[in-house]
Amino acid sequence: MNKPITVKCPTCGAPVEWNDKTPTRPFCSERCKLIDLGAWAAEEHAIPGDPVVDDLFSEDLSRH
Ligand SMILES: [Zn+2]
Repeated sequence: MNKPITVKCPTCGAPVEWNDKTPTRPFCSERCKLIDLGAWAAEEHAIPGDPVVDDLFSEDLSRH
């Protein structure tokens, strides 16, 4: 009866269970959530070449 609903993490594309076990949904983790928010904020404020954001991105891509 309880069919697990799975969505894709918008940041890394990993499958994420859509239930109370995943409070960070639709993101797979707090980390991906922060990365996505960071990307959004970086675009919004147009910080050129922010090294912290660049670092988070490359690290996440290589991990998944
Ligand atoms: Zn993710």
